[in-house]
Amino acid sequence: MISFSAKVKSELAGILGNHKHCRKAEITGMFQYGGQLGRVERDCYAVGFHTENAEVLKKGFTLLRKTFNIDTDKNLSEQQLFAFLEQMDAAWAESLEHVANRSCCKRAFIRGVFLAVGSISDPEKGYHLEFVCEDEEQARFLRSMIATFDIETRVLERKEHYVVYLKEGTSIVDLLNVMEAHVALMELENLRILKEMRNTVNRRVNCETANINKTVNAAAKQVEDILYIEEHKGLVSLPDTLYEMARVRLDNPDATLKELGEILVPPVGKSGVNHRLRKISEYADKLRDREPVRLDELD
Ligand SMILES: [Zn+2]
Repeated sequence: MISFSAKVKSELAGILGNHKHCRKAEITGMFQYGGQLGRVERDCYAVGFHTENAEVLKKGFTLLRKTFNIDTDKNLSEQQLFAFLEQMDAAWAESLEHVANRSCCKRAFIRGVFLAVGSISDPEKGYHLEFVCEDEEQARFLRSMIATFDIETRVLERKEHYVVYLKEGTSIVDLLNVMEAHVALMELENLRILKEMRNTVNRRVNCETANINKTVNAAAKQVEDILYIEEHKGLVSLPDTLYEMARVRLDNPDATLKELGEILVPPVGKSGVNHRLRKISEYADKLRDREPVRLDELD
């Protein structure tokens, strides 16, 4: 199955900015953070990107060609390589200015860096988005750019790399929006809403079950107390109001307090029913403990 990270990258790889300044910002972001140089053989070099994603690689090459007229599919001579690196350095310097001053270029830059060194976890499993930067300076610059969109990031050192990361669903959504990954954003939002709804429903079900159990347990205890009195003293030992209450409860073991009150003649409110049932239970408890009971206290 294709990972969420790969999906996001495919979507981002499909975005090609209309303006040259944005393309420059994106490719320099990609190259500065994730570019690779390799020597194929003597006087023969290759430029590329360290990625497992073919679409990302293709985008990198397309941007290099469109922006700098460099055909990176071909190998470069040492002279060509130096020229290329000089060009990239100049572009980086220029981009820094654009990136700092234009929102469009800033978005493109962050997108480029994410394509090169970013990843995002499957939102079903948890929220985590990160950029693995080579050094502290790269991490600091990236964080300051992301911060201009009011998104806070954190950083940690991992195996000599500086990992800039986000852990909150809402800020990840914000960052996807900054990078213009609208499809992924919708998917993540839907999941988030679904998850929240599921939690709410579960909470409510748990709460209702707990209430039902409480009612059932209380009623079972009342019936038990009444039967104990019946067995040891007889219900007739109860004052009239309690006798009637006990009979109604025995006949309606499943009824709520409110329903019991309505059955009584004359009807009694919920708190009245509760009061009488409590008196009956106290009476039963005293019988169990063989304590003397004064019946006039019961009423
Ligand atoms: Zn721009």
